[in-house]
Amino acid sequence: MNHSAIAALHNSETTAKNYINGEWSTPTTDRYLEVINPATTESLGKVPLSSADDIDRAAQAASEAFKSWRRTPATERVQYLFKLKALLEDQFESLAHTITLECGKTLAESKGELRRAIENVEVACGIPMMMQGYNSEDIARGIDEQMIRQPLGVVAIITPFNFPGMIPFWFLPYAIACGNTCIVKPSERVPLTMQKVFRLLEQTDLPKGVVNLVNGAKEAVDAVLDHPTIRAISFVGSSAIAKYVYSRAAANGKRSQCQGGAKNPVIVLPDADIAMTTRIMADSAFGCAGQRCLAASIAITVGDAKETFTDAIAEAATARTVGSGLDPTTQMGPVITAQSKTRIESLIQQATHEGATVLVDGRQPNISGYDGYFVRPTILQNVDPAGEIAKTEIFGPVLSLIHLDSIEAAIALVNRSQYGNMASLFTSSGAAARKFRYEAEAGNIGINIGVAAPMAFFPFSGWKESFFGDLHGQGAHAIEFFTQTKVVVERWQDWTRQF
Ligand code: NAD
Repeated sequence: MNHSAIAALHNSETTAKNYINGEWSTPTTDRYLEVINPATTESLGKVPLSSADDIDRAAQAASEAFKSWRRTPATERVQYLFKLKALLEDQFESLAHTITLECGKTLAESKGELRRAIENVEVACGIPMMMQGYNSEDIARGIDEQMIRQPLGVVAIITPFNFPGMIPFWFLPYAIACGNTCIVKPSERVPLTMQKVFRLLEQTDLPKGVVNLVNGAKEAVDAVLDHPTIRAISFVGSSAIAKYVYSRAAANGKRSQCQGGAKNPVIVLPDADIAMTTRIMADSAFGCAGQRCLAASIAITVGDAKETFTDAIAEAATARTVGSGLDPTTQMGPVITAQSKTRIESLIQQATHEGATVLVDGRQPNISGYDGYFVRPTILQNVDPAGEIAKTEIFGPVLSLIHLDSIEAAIALVNRSQYGNMASLFTSSGAAARKFRYEAEAGNIGINIGVAAPMAFFPFSGWKESFFGDLHGQGAHAIEFFTQTKVVVERWQDWTRQF
């Protein structure tokens, strides 16, 4: 799609709409937020803050649609996903462009997240087999027992700003493939990507009410949490809100899976390949401007790795090209909002009060041609392992360096974290790798990997304050989450005794 076609598309969608019961509608609110391009601070449009009434309309439509959707054979349900996959491929460039416009990340990063989104659609296409139950014949004479999986009903998906194209797909394809109907509530900061995705969902001819989109913020989320018809909630966002959603969902008798924040530590041992480690670590810490829940946030160097890694990562941070994500030479875009930039810069300041040195300072950069919310890659040295900065999720392009004497001490520090989203180790020792894999307290582990993002056919794990619930998103966990098990015990007169 050329530039003017994209601009035309944006002009026609400057005010995000809700999609309820197969129709685009304007919500019952007069409260709107501006959607800002974080690279330029220009307005991309407006997003409505929908009310509890809008959630109720979506829940009713989804509940009505569920009656026949659950009876639609799984083999038929996945045909819509095959169509969706083709449409996503067809609109790949245009969707990536929208992600970059509203979220700030580079086009390559936007394409990366879309690829991950599509992988989830592909995996969910296997539902006819993955959703099968199991059975035992003759649990007693003439008695058989079976477990069948049935959909839950209406489910809701609430997502954060940092992956507007991917995170809804950790849930949506599995939810509908399993026979549920759903409501998606995207982040109010990046609503435009889902506007486009729902235009594609509309083109698949899914029955009305199977998928619904409601824009909004806290009021809409609270309405989801309290709505009697909504059976389950998939949430991704910061830990404080994840915990809140999990508690209120539980109090209202709902099933929920709530992925929270992170503070990901990476250990660099002296036997690591430092050139490779530096390249991968720079991508992990500064990719997506550090706004990834799997971003490396603390590098713990052990022994001699301190000198070699520190010099190399400082060089990589300084060399990174920062600018608009639409510029193909850009390696790192802006952070999401002015408030975010201010928060990140004040946390860098706080680190100095805790005794750290700012080895590479990314505050208040001058990015030629753009006046957006930029923070350049920043390296903090000698960060106090017991201080606040070592514990706080910065969610920006800031890497803290901590030096320790042994792998035991490094793993102990990893395990002191309140979070447990990801932990990685760089080494050439299999024994060290095994020890780390065995002992590290995090749900996603990387060995010589900087962003240990599970493929769609594995659960996106996460421990401690990084996850509230039992069943994670993606893969087999998603199928368990989006179905309820029914066990049937049947007695029939033994055939041989009838004659
Ligand atoms: P956020 O918690 O501010 O918002 C997430 C969602 O919650 C949004 O849809 C928002 O509208 C809603 N929300 C915000 N405040 C609310 C409130 N008071 N009551 C009810 N709902 C509310 O998160 P964010 O800033 O959009 O995203 C960044 C965070 O998400 C980071 O902490 C990051 O680590 C985390 N994240 C985690 C994962 C993971 O897999 N664990 C993945 C991506 C992002």
